[in-house]
Amino acid sequence: MRFSGFRVLAEALTGHTGWRPLWRNPDPQPAYDYIIVGGGGHGLAAAYYLAKTFGKARIAVLEKGWLGSGNIGRNTTIIRSNYLLPGNQPFYEFSMKLWENLEQEFNFNAMVSQRGILNLIHSDGQRDAFRRRGNAILLSGADAELLNADQVRDMAPFLNFDNARFPIKGGLLQRRAGTARHDGVAWGYARGADLAGVDLIQNCEVTGFRIEGGAVRGVETSRGYIAAGKVGVAVAGSSSRVMQMAGMRLPIESHVLQAFVSEGLKPTIPGVITFGAGHFYVSQSDKGGLVFGGDLDGYNSYAQRGNLPTIEDVAEGGMALMPMIGRARLLRAWGGIMDMSMDGSPIIDKTPIDGLFLNAGWCYGGFKATPASGYAFAHLLATGTPHDTARGYRLDRFATGHVIDEKGVGATPNLH
Ligand SMILES: Cc1cc2nc3c(=O)[nH]c(=O)nc-3n(C[C@H](O)[C@H](O)[C@H](O)COP(=O)(O)OP(=O)(O)OC[C@H]3O[C@@H](n4cnc5c(N)ncnc54)[C@H](O)[C@@H]3O)c2cc1C
Repeated sequence: MRFSGFRVLAEALTGHTGWRPLWRNPDPQPAYDYIIVGGGGHGLAAAYYLAKTFGKARIAVLEKGWLGSGNIGRNTTIIRSNYLLPGNQPFYEFSMKLWENLEQEFNFNAMVSQRGILNLIHSDGQRDAFRRRGNAILLSGADAELLNADQVRDMAPFLNFDNARFPIKGGLLQRRAGTARHDGVAWGYARGADLAGVDLIQNCEVTGFRIEGGAVRGVETSRGYIAAGKVGVAVAGSSSRVMQMAGMRLPIESHVLQAFVSEGLKPTIPGVITFGAGHFYVSQSDKGGLVFGGDLDGYNSYAQRGNLPTIEDVAEGGMALMPMIGRARLLRAWGGIMDMSMDGSPIIDKTPIDGLFLNAGWCYGGFKATPASGYAFAHLLATGTPHDTARGYRLDRFATGHVIDEKGVGATPNLH
């Protein structure tokens, strides 16, 4: 079934009896050519591109809960490609290009909304750093604009411009950035993958790997053993735990990140705005809620819930930036587990075990990467070679010293 305006009209006139589930609910087969572990955004996107773009068949996604129950449905929905380093910028720009055509590609409304992202500048030194990043973005062919304080005031007059500690002196704007409806992205990829023949198997936890002679032969699951030619692991915050079952210790720490939504307000925030003197980012959902977040909770955890001190810290950041937020009531808060790598950049690579591949280390930024990550992982699984834009995301870069430290904070995962 294709979705379209005509379809909605036809269903409205016929009592909505024609809608069907978005995907089948198959039982696992005894064997597949490709198994993707993890039914989050990256796993579903990888399965989708494996089937649709690389023409592969006999593919299954194994998800321990329900599709989209992880970070893909918990993030603050920001998409952007305003990266500085050559190891990152082409990859995130590739992702942005895929976002721009995604809904047509998989015929599903993911509410991709290119309302722009504005990174605020609070000091002269920060302006220099942002100008450098903006120039790097322009040189790589993407878009960036440096705004002065008056231009920022025109866009967002409610900000606290004359704060004595954090005056706003301008901003770096990427107009093509914005937001997308996170669970819609998971559903769109899931539906597309299912239509292309992928078995999406929920409530199927991978509990071990069968490895013989240095090669993976299949996975043990809560629904029995399933043989596989190749296995791709894309389990985000659970990466260390899952890869431990294959005998591997990863350069990753798992941390909690919380997100918040206020009651619905009239349209206020023009796009995404980030505070440059603290860690606070905010956008407004189509329902009117202010969607915002800040720092990690600061301790390692596998719990998908956060703590009160971080809520206070995030609220302080919000109040310093836009005091009017203090009048909005908080509606919901939740947490997700972040797979923080040692340099803040991801891993899309083979492992030392033949046939076992890893997609991990997304830190704060994996949602915006979903299309490119899925594509690059599918490329690696299908061809055995890395996608051009993901060549730097190697597992051994921590040993060889070829780290990609976008923030320049060194090997401190909780700061990335
Ligand atoms: C609060 C918050 C805000 C964020 N905001 C942004 C943002 O604004 N922009 C941005 O770019 N990024 C953001 N992120 C990061 C982004 O959401 C993640 O990096 C990204 O979603 C991770 O990839 P994923 O979608 O595949 O992960 P997930 O959706 O977590 O998928 C992994 C899946 O693996 C499954 N799994 C785990 N173990 C097993 C097992 N043993 N067997 C089978 N399945 C298993 C899990 O159940 C889960 O469904 C945010 C994250 C959080 C938590």
